[in-house]
Amino acid sequence: RKLGYAIVGLGSYATRQIMPQFKNCEYARLVALVSGTPEKLERYGAEYGVPRTHRYSYADYDKLRNNPDIDVVYVVLPNSMHAEYSIRASRAGKHVMCEKPMAVSVAECQAMIEAARAANRKLMIGYRCHFEPHNLRSVELVKTGFVGRPTLITAEHGFFAQPGQWRLDRPMSGGGSLMDIGIYSLNAARYLAGEEPMELVATEYTDRTDPRFRNVEDRIDFQLKFPSGVIANCVSSYSSGHNAFRVTGTKGWVGMEPATSYEGQKLFTRTGGDTEQVSVSTPRKNQFVAQLDHLPESILTGIPLRASGEEGLRDMRLIEAIYRSARERRAVSLA
Ligand code: NAD
Repeated sequence: RKLGYAIVGLGSYATRQIMPQFKNCEYARLVALVSGTPEKLERYGAEYGVPRTHRYSYADYDKLRNNPDIDVVYVVLPNSMHAEYSIRASRAGKHVMCEKPMAVSVAECQAMIEAARAANRKLMIGYRCHFEPHNLRSVELVKTGFVGRPTLITAEHGFFAQPGQWRLDRPMSGGGSLMDIGIYSLNAARYLAGEEPMELVATEYTDRTDPRFRNVEDRIDFQLKFPSGVIANCVSSYSSGHNAFRVTGTKGWVGMEPATSYEGQKLFTRTGGDTEQVSVSTPRKNQFVAQLDHLPESILTGIPLRASGEEGLRDMRLIEAIYRSARERRAVSLA
């Protein structure tokens, strides 16, 4: 059986990356659309066979409640809208998939978790890399001792932010590169370490004369100290392009570049003299399909939910601590 998704926000990520993937899903189908732009509803409704009865404006959002074909609401809106639209979906009795970052504050994340709990519905965050096979293989290699005892993780994520978009407007985005792309460095450091950091220190580098960065940060680097002793050095940037990580240990290293892109991941290892590229067999489901299928599969079969609201909350607590550390120019203890 396939559960029905409503997509909320027909922007770039929803229309170019997510919606084309439903045709390959085992447990998920696209049944409804929510947009403030009637032309988009018309165009994508026609393209995906979504009937007029299943196309909604934001004014009609709460009417999703009355549509039994909708099981899951997938929120793909600007960050500051995640909490409100996720909570309203939970209250409408729907399961929720929400894009990363989960919201723009710890308090919002907690309210989202509470709303889903009160409605007895599931809440999942769009951490697609948790379903990407090269990332999963990297985690497994580290876990099974391939690098020996891990001592250093590096994770770098950035892209060149173009002017004139909500990403650069703090009320809409909640922050700059860290909220958007640096969160991949943070989340990867955590899944590669397999534990939670106990202390962090962060430094921000932003040219405030650049009109793009009037109220959000450009570059913010942070160092996470984990209980096992491994240290993660992480980069988050809106003015340089990178997408890579590496775990170095007492016996060698495991690294990826690109690490978290939409496709084309490459995994490398080194234990002795040579760097080798590891081939990872192509799975039946790519990361997008696996992510879309996971929530309905969890609803239908009861398998434990990966990338839950609690996972999004963990990142948001660290994001708040990273901003605090950079602002106050001191290390922050996470105990
Ligand atoms: P986008 O600007 O392309 O799309 C945002 C959509 O929200 C647009 O359709 C816009 O019309 C709509 N919207 C509704 N109300 C709005 C308002 N008041 N102001 C601005 N837009 C409004 O952005 P996007 O790149 O699709 O990002 C959407 C979300 O998806 C973000 O939270 C982002 O972090 C996330 N995202 C995730 C990934 C990933 O790989 N998981 C990739 C890209 C984006």
